[in-house]
Amino acid sequence: MKKILSAILAGAMLCTSALMFSACGGNASSTADSSKTEDAKVLHMATNAAFEPYEYVESNEVVGIDAEIAKAICDKLGYQLQIDDMEFDAIITAVTTGKADFGMAGMTITDERKQSVDFTDPYTNAVQVIIVNEEDSKVASKADLEGKAIGVQLGTTGDLYVSDVNDAKVERFSKGADAVLALTQGKVDAVVIDNQPAKAFVAQNPGIKILEEDFANEEYAICLAKGNELTAKFNTALKELKDDGTVDSIIKKYIKE
Ligand code: GLN
Repeated sequence: MKKILSAILAGAMLCTSALMFSACGGNASSTADSSKTEDAKVLHMATNAAFEPYEYVESNEVVGIDAEIAKAICDKLGYQLQIDDMEFDAIITAVTTGKADFGMAGMTITDERKQSVDFTDPYTNAVQVIIVNEEDSKVASKADLEGKAIGVQLGTTGDLYVSDVNDAKVERFSKGADAVLALTQGKVDAVVIDNQPAKAFVAQNPGIKILEEDFANEEYAICLAKGNELTAKFNTALKELKDDGTVDSIIKKYIKE
């Protein structure tokens, strides 16, 4: 039984490495196992690279604010970085099972997540916004969401908050882009999602807009396995990168406003 299990696990790992992208040029060939040896010093970051401008794929590479901040932290601490792309919903499990060393994915600090992982200090603020169709929308404010069909990305804070809206019919999609597609096709009345990806979706899809009224304020941080001593090191590196302006300049590179 054990043998069968490990064969399945090995197979799963191979599949994962096929999906891997390197954010630091030059170590794309390292395998999933290399992080477990001292010499390789590769840290695996679990992310969902469909969340522009924090993480998205460009020329076969994961780029974005999170990829660059992670790279800067790893550089400071003397690690190589390897980014593993997966469903958002799978990130925390990847971290708690040790498949990934840390998760970084525009991930909001929540009390519920804190029960399974540790978070670093926040590296940026974000807001949940409401996207609607420009014409004939039944939703013009947060209060209008009651009783409506609302699209969200599965397992996100948008999903969590909307689940509390009275009589809402929540449609959960594995990708934010699919929730937005459902909106443009009239299958849902609104989408609740983080503001920066929302802006990217609106820029890519004519006929939709972001409502002025925000849904909720949040903070993004990196998650690590509970008790992992890397968390303190990440916090020290992050503080230095905030203090010397690196974090700001990475954010400004991707968010021009
Ligand atoms: N900030 C949201 C969350 O943490 C969405 C993150 C994401 O979809 N990558 O749930």
